[in-house]
Amino acid sequence: MPDHAVIVGAGVIGLATAHRLALDGLSVTVVDATRGEAGASVHNAGWIVPIMSAPVPAPGMIGKALRWMARKDSPLYVRPTPRPEHVRFMLSMLRHCNPRDFQHGLESLVSLNERTVSLFDEYEKDGVRFEYHRTGQLMAFHTRETMREYQATAAPLERIGHLAVPLSGDELRDLEPALGKQVRAGLQCPQERHVDPTSLVKGLTARCRELGVRFLHNRRVTDIRHRGPAVTAVVAGDEEIHGDVFVLAAGAHTGPLARKAGFSLPIQPGKGYGFDDTTGSVTLRHAVYLGEAKVAVTPLSGRLRFAGTMEFGSFDAAIDPHRLRGIVRSAHEFLPGFAAGARPHGWTGLRPMTPDGLPVIGPLPGKDNVLVASGHCMLGVTLAPVTAEIIAAQVKGGQGASGTTAAAAPFSPQRFASRRARTARTD
Ligand SMILES: Cc1cc2nc3c(=O)[nH]c(=O)nc-3n(C[C@H](O)[C@H](O)[C@H](O)COP(=O)(O)OP(=O)(O)OC[C@H]3O[C@@H](n4cnc5c(N)ncnc54)[C@H](O)[C@@H]3O)c2cc1C
Repeated sequence: MPDHAVIVGAGVIGLATAHRLALDGLSVTVVDATRGEAGASVHNAGWIVPIMSAPVPAPGMIGKALRWMARKDSPLYVRPTPRPEHVRFMLSMLRHCNPRDFQHGLESLVSLNERTVSLFDEYEKDGVRFEYHRTGQLMAFHTRETMREYQATAAPLERIGHLAVPLSGDELRDLEPALGKQVRAGLQCPQERHVDPTSLVKGLTARCRELGVRFLHNRRVTDIRHRGPAVTAVVAGDEEIHGDVFVLAAGAHTGPLARKAGFSLPIQPGKGYGFDDTTGSVTLRHAVYLGEAKVAVTPLSGRLRFAGTMEFGSFDAAIDPHRLRGIVRSAHEFLPGFAAGARPHGWTGLRPMTPDGLPVIGPLPGKDNVLVASGHCMLGVTLAPVTAEIIAAQVKGGQGASGTTAAAAPFSPQRFASRRARTARTD
C-alpha cells in the first residue's frame, strides 16, 4: 500500500478523499490553486439527494434544450463557443440522450447512492462539524404531468429506501404555506438531507488538519512529472510535490490535468447560478425543488439559498444578469412572497460535467499510480463520501471493499478510452 497520497483539488471531492485516506493511515497532501473554500463546492444548493440520481442527458432533453435555447433566462443554455473540446462534448452528450444510456446511468447511480445518507451520518460521528438538516425535500410542480416524469425517475430509488410520495398542491401548502396557488402537484422525499455546503467544506478541512493532512494552498498545478508508467510529482510554480499515489480532483478543471498525465477526459464546466436571500420574505422548513424552473431552494441558518440553471460553454465565473433574473422570476412564480423585482447579489459555480452524466472515479488508464475523482455533475456533494470510499479502496488495492469497488465499475475513466485501446486491453 502506498504511504503518501497527493490530492489535487480542495473541493468537497478532494477533501472527502483526503479525510478517508488520512483515516486509513496514509500521509496526505492536498494541493489547491486557491486559498480554499472556493469553487462549486461552496457555490451549490447543498442537497444530499440520491432521489435526483437521473443523469442529465435524458430522452427528450434535445427538444427541451432547443426550446430553451431561444431564451437567455431559461434553465439550460449553451453558450456558442468554437472550442473543439466543447463542441465534441456537446455532440457526445446528445448521443447519450437515449433510453438505454439513461436507464444504465440511473441504475448505476442508484447503486452508488446506496450508503450516501449513512456516510454523512458517519461524518457527524467522526467529529466533522457542519450544518446538517434532516427535514427532507419537497418537489413542487405546476402540472401533474411534470410531477409524474420525476416520479418515474425516482421510482428505482425505492430499492435503496428513498421514497417520493405524491402530494396534491394543497397537501404541499400544508407543509410549506409559502408555496403559491400555481403549484398543483408535488413529491415528498423524506429521506433526503441538506447541508450548508460552506460549513461542510470548512468542517472537512478542519477534521483533515486534525488527522495530519497537509494543505498547500495558492498552488495551481500546471504540470506532471512522469517516470515510465508512474507519475512522480505534480508541479505548481517552481515547486515539485512528490508522492506515491496521485488523485486528480480538480472539478471542472480536471480534464487538462488528466491530459498532462497522458489521458483525455471529456470533463467540461456546467455553470450554475445562485444567491442567498436574507430578507426573510419567504421562510421554508424543507429543501424545495421548483420543478418546471429547475431551481433548488435551501433553508439554511439565517438565509434561504436559491440555486439553478445550467450553462455550457463558459469556464469563467462571470454573472450573466439574464440568468440570475431567470431564477428570481421562477422564485416569485412558485413562492409569491418573494419579490419579483428582487436584485440579489449572485454567485456562480462550475459543475464538472461529463457527456454521459456519470462521475469519473478510478484509475487513470496508462498510469499506475493516478486516480481520478471528478465529473460529479449535479451530485458532487451527495456523492463525495462514497467517492472517497471507492478511491480509498482502490488505493489500498480493493481489500475489504469489494462491494464498493464493484458498484464503481460504470464510473471508470476507462470508458473514455478510444475503442482501439479498449479492444487492445480485452485481447
Ligand atoms: C448552482 C449549483 C448547485 C449545485 N447543487 C448541488 C446539490 O444540491 N447537491 C449536490 O450533490 N451537488 C450540487 N452541485 C454540484 C456540486 O457542487 C459539484 O458536483 C461539486 O462541488 C464538485 O466538487 P469538486 O470537488 O469536484 O470540484 P470543485 O468544487 O470545483 O473543486 C475543485 C478544486 O480544485 C481546484 N483546482 C482546479 N484546478 C486546479 C489546479 N490546476 N491545481 C490545483 N488546484 C486546482 C479548485 O481551486 C477547486 O478548489 C451544484 C453545483 C452548482 C454549480
